[in-house]
Order: sequence, then C-alpha cells, then structure tokens
Amino acid sequence: MHGLNHIGLKLSGENQKYLHSFSTESNTYLPGQFRIATNTEIEVAVKRASEAFKIFKRTDPEQRALFLDEIAHQIINKEDELIDRAMKESALSRDRILSERLRTVNQLKSYAGLLREGSWVEASIETEDNDRKPVRKPDLRKMLHPIGPVVVFTASNFPLAYSTAGGDTASALAAGNPVIIKAHESHLGTNEIVADAIITAANITGMPDGVFSSLIGNGNALGQELVKHPAIKAVGFTGSHSGGRALFNLAQSRKRPIPVFAEMGSINPVVLFPDELITNLKKVVKNYALSITLDVGQFCTNPGLIIGVKGKELDEFIKKLSKRIKKSTSQTMLSENIWANYYSNRQKVLEQKGVKLLMEGRGDEELKARPTIASVEAHTFINNPHLSEEVFGPFSLIVICENSGELSLVADCLNGQLTTTIIASNKDIKKYSSVIQEFKENTGRLIFNGVPTGVEVCKAMQHGGPYPATTDARFTAVGEDAIKRWVRPIAYQDCPQEFLPEALKNKNSFKIYRIVNGVLTRKSL
Ligand code: NAP
Repeated sequence: MHGLNHIGLKLSGENQKYLHSFSTESNTYLPGQFRIATNTEIEVAVKRASEAFKIFKRTDPEQRALFLDEIAHQIINKEDELIDRAMKESALSRDRILSERLRTVNQLKSYAGLLREGSWVEASIETEDNDRKPVRKPDLRKMLHPIGPVVVFTASNFPLAYSTAGGDTASALAAGNPVIIKAHESHLGTNEIVADAIITAANITGMPDGVFSSLIGNGNALGQELVKHPAIKAVGFTGSHSGGRALFNLAQSRKRPIPVFAEMGSINPVVLFPDELITNLKKVVKNYALSITLDVGQFCTNPGLIIGVKGKELDEFIKKLSKRIKKSTSQTMLSENIWANYYSNRQKVLEQKGVKLLMEGRGDEELKARPTIASVEAHTFINNPHLSEEVFGPFSLIVICENSGELSLVADCLNGQLTTTIIASNKDIKKYSSVIQEFKENTGRLIFNGVPTGVEVCKAMQHGGPYPATTDARFTAVGEDAIKRWVRPIAYQDCPQEFLPEALKNKNSFKIYRIVNGVLTRKSL
C-alpha cells in the first residue's frame, strides 16, 4: 500500500470523513466519494516518503526514467476514463483536456529524456594540485543531489498538466524525491485516476513503497500539517496569492525553514505601441479578444492589464475590442469558489474611483463568467494598488497613459509578473527601447507581438517571475529546468573514487557533459 487515499480504504479506525466530487459542467455531484486523510494517514504517508527517499535517491537515472515513462504509459491506458472525468469536474472542453493529457505525458517523457542524457546534474571537477604554493589545492567535485520528500499542492486550473502527475510531480520525481500530493478539491476523481496510474507504475518498475502518495483534506489543515512536518523538504504550489503566501510564511517559521516554490497571481501586462497598432490593428484585436476569453480566462498568463498611450490608435483598439467582447458569451468556470471570486474581485476593481466599465459579454447563469473589459487613466492606476490585483477569469483592465513618460511610470509601479507582452513594430522598438527595458525589469518572460496565454514546454522557457508572481524568481515551474527547484549541490573534497557518486568518478560511465578543470567535456579523466 503506497499511502494513496483510496475510496473505502480502512487504515486507522479513526472517524471516516468523505468529500464528494462536483461537476461544474453539469452543476451536480458526481458518483464516488473521497475519503479525507486522517492524522494517522498523514503521518504514515510522510514516514513512508522519508523511508522511500533513502532508496529512491540512490536509484540510477535509467531506473527513474523507466518509472516516468511507465507513468506516462499508465495515463495513456486510462485515457477514456480520465478525459471524461476531467471534463466533468473542470467544465473545460475536450480539446483542452486532450491537449493537457498530451502535455502531461510529454512532460513525463521529457524528464525521462533529461535523466537519460544526464548532464543536468551539473557535475564539475577540479583536480588536486599538490605543488601549489603556499597551500596544496585539494581535489574538489560537485554535483546536484535530490533534497527529500516534496509536497505538491495541485493547481485547480490545470487538472492534468499541473496536477497529480503534472510538471511539479514529474520534475520532483525525476530529481529523485518522493512526492506527496495535496489534491485539489475541484477535481478529486481526476486526481484519483492519475494517482492510481502513478502507483501502478511505481509497482511495475519496482520503486520503493511511499515514493508517491495522494492525500485529500477538508480546508487548510492537511496542507498546513504537511508543510510544517519536519520530514518535508520542499513545497510546490500553484494557486492564489493568499494561499501561496500563507504556506510560504509557514515554511519559513519552521525550526528548519524549507523552500516553497509558489506560483501565485500575475496580471501579465500587454503594452501597445502606436505604429504596430496602425499596421496590424485587426490582428491585435482578434488575438486579444481570444486570449482574454480563452478557457474562461483561467490561466496564470491571462492578459489582465493592457497599457497604451492616448490617441486614435488606442481609441480604435478599444472600440474594436469592445465590439468583440460584446459578442462573447459567458462560460462555466472551474469551481464555484473560483466563479464567486471572479465576480467579487471584478466588482472590487469596477468600484474603484476612476474605473470605467467598457463592455461585458452576454449571459448571467450560475457558475458562468461574463468576459469584461474596463479602463482607467494611468495616474489613477499608479496611485491605487487595488488595481494591480489579479482578477482570475476573463477580465482585462486597459490603462490609458497621457504620453510615453507616463508609460515609464506605469512600468515602475508594476508588481512582479510571469509575462509582459510588447506589441510593437521595429520602428516602435527603436523609438521606445528604454521604456521596453523598464518593462523587462519586473517580468519572467518578455513576449513580442504575441499573446501571453500558451506556455511552450521546453528548456529555454522561463515560467516564473519576481514576487508576487512567484516566491522565487530564480526558478521556473515549466520546462526541464524546473527540476532545479528540487535539488541542492554537494561538494566532495579529496573523496576516494569508491565513495564518489557515479557522475563524479574519473571514469565518466554515464558519458555526461562535465566541467573538468574549466573545460566542458564528456571524456573520462
Ligand atoms: P487556492 O485557494 O490558493 O488553493 C490552492 C491550494 O492551496 C488548495 O489545495 C488549498 O487547499 C490550499 N490552500 C489555500 N490556502 C491555504 C492556506 N492558507 N493554508 C493551507 N492550504 C491552503 O487556489 P484555487 O483554489 O486554485 O483558486 C482560488 C483562487 O486562486 C482563484 O479564484 C484565483 O484568484 C487564484 N488562482 C490563481 C491562479 C494563477 O495561476 N494565478 C491559479 C489558480 C487559482 P483547500 O482547498 O483545502 O483550502
């Protein structure tokens, strides 16, 4: 038994409590009940993860690659059941869920590929120099090692690709860390199917008991217990600013603080420059009407803020975008809580002095969100921090600047962001280069003439940004480098060959790239 919180599992004899899974798609409860983890089970899951770490950290890269490949295979095997359940629980379209399924599988396979190639451990070797004066230079060798059991708070807005077997889990397992999932209440059935796939894969590939667990809680207690537990060594989180910050604070107040990699709110500014608007107005408007409303705006990269300088180009943009938003219809959100938050956060912005409602889409049903755009003058925006808060959903605020000088002031007052998009011709880029430089300072990804929604999963991606977008801008949550969140370097000084990890021995048996005395090479010493 791997500690998965299976339906009907009898473990502790403590009072059994259950959660039911809700379908936002049909506004009804779904069959199946999901048992809330008891305190005994939390303790058992963490203890088993700690025990598993002793074995799992010593598995060779090929063993872990086979485990990840097998998880992908098991997910594909459960495809029909999985797609159906995820659609019902999230109300996301079949195409979206299918693309998430593909992304989940590809992420697992890409970490398997990373393990097989092997150079990600950043092995570096400086050989000894016994003749160095006045003191001998020792033999020093360093590489990255896993850190221990990781807790992953799964994302409500990516029920597959950033949930149970999503990027956080795949990267933490790849690095050699056991994972404990705090399942999100909005897709309990989807979580159960994927957790089963992971546990089946762990059994087939001979991984240690406790390498993976999935726990369900009611309210904040489970997550907080896990973050406080001394055996937990790091946390991955995607969700609200309040949740991420509370867990970050909790982790820092432990006797031994641990890193919390929280991806929280971002309003993803889009800066419009006039020459590009004159040339490509129709295309820009079409792209932004789609990007604001895509999957009901439930993306961390949704364009929540559009900034431009007063003039006929911006007037035309606003007029045409308003027309498209007027034609849009409301769509079902991921959960009742997210739907309620959308309307209350939207209202909070619309009630601020100087904010003008420009246009809303059609429809007013329960659980469905109406796309909305509003505008505000730059000087009001700069002086009101409430206007920089995320409205999670299909909402965008247009900030109107008097001139390019005011654009710089807006750039200066922005919080840290996951993305910033520049809509500019080459002529604009030359003319406004110093303003664009300022927008670069508080973002993780600078996009030119595109939309922020859609995050490519690859080595060169950066999905993370200065606080409050994330708690640590030095790392990414998407792409191969996400593995770096779950490791730490250890240096070995004058260490005998027999004790060195394989990747640091003289014989380069994994044939990985290493830096040996300052030279990148795959040769053995
Ligand atoms: P959330 O409320 O932050 O919850 C995410 C996870 O963290 C859940 O498992 C939740 O557990 C746990 N959690 C939250 N606060 C906690 C606390 N103080 N202590 C311990 N655990 C805590 O996020 P959500 O449910 O996904 O959505 C709520 C709002 O978050 C949305 O309306 C939106 O504003 C924002 N959001 C932003 C993004 C983004 O990418 N920017 C993505 C998703 C959501 P429980 O459910 O058991 O409390």
